[in-house]
Amino acid sequence: MQQAQTQDVMEKIVSLCKRRGFVFQSSEIYGGLAATWDYGPLGAELKRNLKEVWWRSNVYERDDIDGLDAAILMHPMTWMASGHVSNFEDTLVDCKGCKKRFKVENITGKKCPECGGELTEPRQFNMMLKTHLGPIEDATSLTYMRPETAQGIFVNFQNVVNSMRRKVPFGVAQMGKSFRNEVTTKSFTFRSREFEQMEIEFFVKPGTDEDWYRKWVEERYGWYIKYGIRKENLRKREHEKTELAHYAKACTDIEYNFPFGWSELEGIANRTDFDLKQHMQLSGKDLVFFDEVTKERYIPYVIEPSGGIDRSILAFLADAYREEEVKGEKRVSLAFHKRLAPLKVAVLPLLRNRPEIVELAKNITNGLRKEMKVMYDDTASIGRLYRRQDEVGTPYCVTVDVDSLADKKVTVRDRDTMLQDRIDIANIKEYLIEKLA
Ligand code: ATP
Repeated sequence: MQQAQTQDVMEKIVSLCKRRGFVFQSSEIYGGLAATWDYGPLGAELKRNLKEVWWRSNVYERDDIDGLDAAILMHPMTWMASGHVSNFEDTLVDCKGCKKRFKVENITGKKCPECGGELTEPRQFNMMLKTHLGPIEDATSLTYMRPETAQGIFVNFQNVVNSMRRKVPFGVAQMGKSFRNEVTTKSFTFRSREFEQMEIEFFVKPGTDEDWYRKWVEERYGWYIKYGIRKENLRKREHEKTELAHYAKACTDIEYNFPFGWSELEGIANRTDFDLKQHMQLSGKDLVFFDEVTKERYIPYVIEPSGGIDRSILAFLADAYREEEVKGEKRVSLAFHKRLAPLKVAVLPLLRNRPEIVELAKNITNGLRKEMKVMYDDTASIGRLYRRQDEVGTPYCVTVDVDSLADKKVTVRDRDTMLQDRIDIANIKEYLIEKLA
């Protein structure tokens, strides 16, 4: 199987996403809303599965991380402390002709890159989305939609230490929506204005931070490989000192070779004690950690693996996309890791005009429903049905045929090898559970 990594592939993925219910343009019937996307029925499953494997790897399979689910709306002082009010800015210019807006860093020359028109003077633009709480819209009610989930973890640092009796080193993991008023919004879901993040803030003793930073870079790199991204499409890129954010001592991006080029999937940053210190200063609360064994007091350093759920989904989709020729016909498949695949099994009757076959197939479907996401489909010929399932990455198809009525067996077809196994109906559930584990 070969993977074509071109812009052409990107167009095919975007089209497949719409056609097969992975991703729709938000508010499409009104002409769409720029850089916001809706996950369709299969996209919603894929997203749930991705979040599930991330949570499982970090919160269940480790004993040093707790989960958290903080509110999107936070006290406005949070964003003063984090530096977002003063630093979360882009320098922009507008085209006086076509009215398009560009980041200064993306422009070469003095003219509009799209229409050649005249540009305005550069000006600062804060990327946080503003909103007002309560009935009066004035400066006192102004707050922001969080631009990162991380701050919800920092402000709850002492709450987690106290309620979970945690000792450094330990981490807090959180997934959820973030909002940024992005200027450049091309490349499908890659850069959205509303998106989801999966972030860990891992608190460590100062002095051990560099070791932990390196461990987390390897851990997170390995996670993408484990769930199916091919090594040749993933790389680590350490930031130059001049590139570092105002809070970071070091940062490595995990980049994916998207059809539109190598781009950031996740950043692992050594945020030092910047955030806790800032929150201590602005809130006046004590966020110092006391080690009862060594009797030391210190503000922990923080290692932050911060990934985007939407960007991950796009990477997993792009990496899974396959085109090949089988018996003179084009076959498109999504070779998802089984844990990520939105549908696990499709049950297909070979003859839809034979009521006994249809009934048996529906009974098998219902028997599997509690264990896995399964679908029944009898709306086309078997060849077409297989193609449909391949295209959305369903790992197994179970086919019920005339022989099934007599020998009480069904055919199980593997998405990637296209090999078939004949399995007793009595054992089908256990067989599939084991295969999908
Ligand atoms: P970029 O440089 O691409 O704008 P960033 O460095 O600002 O990203 P971070 O602030 O480090 O991103 O956010 C952590 C992660 O959140 C990113 O690695 C990315 O996966 C995700 N993310 C950030 N901004 C967006 C966005 N606008 N749309 C989708 N995902 C995003």
